Amino acid sequence: MRNKFIAGNWKMNTSRAETKSLIESLREGTSGIQKTTIMVAPPFINLQVASECLQDTSIKLGAQNLFWEDRGAFTGEVSPLMLKDVRCEYVIIGHSERRQYFRESNQDVNKKIHAALKHELLPVICVGESLENRERGQTLGVIEFQLRNSLIDFTPEQAGRFTIAYEPVWAIGTGRAATPFDAVDVHEHIRSLLGELFGKNIAESIRIQYGGSVTAENIESFIRENEIDGALVGGASLKADSFLKIIQAAESV
Ligand code: PEP
Repeated sequence: MRNKFIAGNWKMNTSRAETKSLIESLREGTSGIQKTTIMVAPPFINLQVASECLQDTSIKLGAQNLFWEDRGAFTGEVSPLMLKDVRCEYVIIGHSERRQYFRESNQDVNKKIHAALKHELLPVICVGESLENRERGQTLGVIEFQLRNSLIDFTPEQAGRFTIAYEPVWAIGTGRAATPFDAVDVHEHIRSLLGELFGKNIAESIRIQYGGSVTAENIESFIRENEIDGALVGGASLKADSFLKIIQAAESV
């Protein structure tokens, strides 16, 4: 049985002081949460302070990216070992902003997932179609292509550690969320592909999050769907009030 998983992607936002204060509010507001997995992903530079603030809480720490090598001459990159060193448990891989602005390919995503698993980091693997893809009726084909090319050479046991985040690119940061109906359609397709790749039992155990303009107001319509195992939240995770409401909504289904 999959539990709900709410993750906050803070992107390139928050100072040290804001990190501390946001986590303090989340600590207080989540003390009664028992069923839902909660994760926050601050920018690299604030992972250390976030890690200190999160001690003795059940909120998990995640990074927004990683590089696939352990160490060496890779200026500006951050390795999985470094993420482990600051007690990260999760890492977001293949976010559409990384694919779009930093030209990350499915092959890069594949290497990053392998690197994450090698060091026992849990990958949150993002896929999603552009507006053009959707308007041309290519959504399912694009998602399938991304997954087939990113999820190469994993055992079913390794796949059991995946989370998939379905994030339509046109819904990210736009205030225009997908309908729950459309999200469920894509999630079902993803799960059936995961079944083909890793077997039905593993596919049933993998959490699939929806992401793209999730708010305190619309979360209930997503989270009550069996096929939607949580949300990857950008903008609304930067305010304790709205993020806590989203977490509460997940906890109450
Ligand atoms: C995201 O960054 O993954 C995201 C879904 O952003 P937003 O919630 O702001 O659309």
